[in-house]
Amino acid sequence: MRLLIVGAPGAGKGTQSKLISEKLNIPHISTGDILRNEISSNSELGKKVKHFVDNGLLVPDDLIADVLLNEIKKEKYRNGYILDGFPRNINQVKIMEEKGILIDKVIFIDTSEEEIMKRITGRRVCQNCGQVYNIYYNPPKTENKCDKCSNNLVQREDDKEEVVRNRLKTFREATIPVIDYYSKKGILFRINGDKNFDDIKNEIFEVLGVK
Ligand code: AMP
Repeated sequence: MRLLIVGAPGAGKGTQSKLISEKLNIPHISTGDILRNEISSNSELGKKVKHFVDNGLLVPDDLIADVLLNEIKKEKYRNGYILDGFPRNINQVKIMEEKGILIDKVIFIDTSEEEIMKRITGRRVCQNCGQVYNIYYNPPKTENKCDKCSNNLVQREDDKEEVVRNRLKTFREATIPVIDYYSKKGILFRINGDKNFDDIKNEIFEVLGVK
C-alpha cells in the first residue's frame, strides 16, 4: 500500500505514521525527519535547509524533491510506503506524478488551529534528559522543572508562537490545495484530529481496514 498522511503541524502525523508503519509493516518516509537529521549532522544539505526549517518555511521544491527521490528509490520501498510531509504544495504533487510516485490512499488528520496552538506552543522539553511536557495537557509537577531530573524546561525554537503561526499559514495556503486535489480524486479520508490520540489511531486503522 502507498499511503500519504497529511495534516497541519502538530496534527500527529509523525506519531500516527509510525504506528501504521509498525502495524502494516510498511516503511515510513518523513521528509521533516530527514531534514532534521541532516541539520543535526551539519551536512551540506543540512546547512542549506536550516534557515527554512528553523523559521517554519517550506524548503525550495527542487531541493526537497531531490531529497525524496533519493530516499524513495531504495529497495525497501518497493512494496509500499507511508509518505509523511511530502507533497506540501501542488507543484510537489506534479513533480511526484511526473516521477511516477504513486499514492493509493490519503489520510487527512484534520485538527483545528486552536488545538494545534495548544499542543505545540505548550510543549516544553527538558534541557538535560529530553523528557517532553505540555503545560496544558501534561504539565510538570513544579513549573518549568523536569519531574525526572529537576533541570530546566525549555521551548524549542520551532515551537515558538510566531513560528507555529507561520507554519499554519503555509499549511493553509500551500497544502490545503493538495488536500482538495486528492479529495476530488476520491482517495482522501478525513479523520477528526481534535480527538485524543487513541481515537485518531482507531479511526485511521478502520479506514485502512486493520484491527
Ligand atoms: P515536518 O516535520 O513535516 O513538519 O517538517 C519540518 C520542516 O521541514 C517544515 O517546516 C519545512 O521547513 C521542511 N519540510 C519538510 N517537508 C517538506 C516539503 N515537502 N517541502 C518543503 N519543506 C519541507
